[in-house]
Parts: sequence; C-alpha cells; structure tokens
Amino acid sequence: MKNGQNFWETKNLSEMTDEEWEALCDGCGKCCLEKYVFEKGNTLVFTCIACRLLDRKSCRCRHYKDRHRYVPECSPLRFDKFKEYYWLPKTCAYRLLNEGKSLPEWHPLISGTPASVHAAGMSAAGRCVPPQPETDFQKYIVEWDDL
Ligand code: SF4
Ligand code: SF4
Repeated sequence: MKNGQNFWETKNLSEMTDEEWEALCDGCGKCCLEKYVFEKGNTLVFTCIACRLLDRKSCRCRHYKDRHRYVPECSPLRFDKFKEYYWLPKTCAYRLLNEGKSLPEWHPLISGTPASVHAAGMSAAGRCVPPQPETDFQKYIVEWDDL
C-alpha cells in the first residue's frame, strides 16, 4: 500500500474494525509480563515474569480467544477504556498510535513479517521467565529501554 493509505495511517483507533485492531498488535508480548504498582509514588514496575499463558518463544498467548477462562484478570484492550492502559510498554502499537506517533519499521505491518519484532529485540522472547512465586517478584524487576 502507498503511504497514507494504510488503515493505521488513515483511521484512528476508534474507527478500526476488529480485524484491523487485532492486526495492530505487534506480538511483542511485553504487556503479558507481570507488572506491579507501588502505591508510594504511584510507580509502575515491570518484571520479566511471563503470564502463564504466554508462549515465551513466539510471545503469543496460547489461548488468546478464551484466555479469560484461564486468566480472568487479563485486560482486553478496548478503545473506550484506553486511558486505563497506562501500563502498556512505550513501543506498543496501540500506545504509539494513540499518542499520534508512527509505527516503527520493525512492526510486522511495516516489515511484512512477525519475525521482525523479535529480530529487532523488541519482544519479550528470550528474556522472560515462567511464573514465579509472588513473594519473589522483586528479584525479577526489569528496566528494559523498550518498556
Ligand atoms: S504491548 Fe501492545 S503491541 Fe505488544 S503484544 Fe501487547 S498489545 Fe500487542
Ligand atoms: S492471558 Fe494471554 S493475552 Fe492475557 S496476559 Fe496472559 S498471555 Fe497475555
């Protein structure tokens, strides 16, 4: 497609079809890492602990369609609730577009391949761990540049 004719360039998030909305996800898996908010200072921290449904190689959810059966606390991303998603990583395609930014060159919609997000080192692949005891979460806090 020519510049300016791609749906993510011509539509805002509220105008996208369900298919377009889903295609926007880059598959980085970083939103599927455990996060904690410290009340003092209201600080959000990411850990490298993956959700139990995350395939840590592909960074895809293993039961995406019926994930709420297994992980009721998983938040569905919806445009009308976008303000609640302050925890999305800075590279998240939804966050970028919502902030009026462009998709990066490694985004699968630009590169044409889902592998590009991993090749660019922008996914959680290879740097996340399986679920851990909750009392240990501080050991797994990470400060990746792309979070
Ligand atoms: S952070 Fe955003 S782009 Fe990455 S997997 Fe989650 S929803 Fe998709
Ligand atoms: S249930 Fe699936 S989509 Fe939700 S956080 Fe876990 S891996 Fe991610």
